[in-house]
Amino acid sequence: MGSLDGNALAGVMHHLFGRDMTTMAYTCTSCGRTGVMAEMVVYMSGPGAVARCRNCDTILLMLTERHGMYCVDMSGTTQIPAPLKGD
Ligand SMILES: [Zn+2]
Repeated sequence: MGSLDGNALAGVMHHLFGRDMTTMAYTCTSCGRTGVMAEMVVYMSGPGAVARCRNCDTILLMLTERHGMYCVDMSGTTQIPAPLKGD
């Protein structure tokens, strides 16, 4: 399977964060590229999803699910989603 863009993660990320995350801003920890999640290069062929930087191929985000529990690793970005208002 080839790569997709960050919109491929829109549904599950909305489920986890309670809002549209495709417009979430990020900065790549490796090359400093800034963008939004929709621009990430996403691979869905492994046991989870991996989102890479469009500029340098660094892993920005990994998402796995096992038995209904999700693990989101966003260590490739220097920005994380702001909490929802009211949280
Ligand atoms: Zn990068």
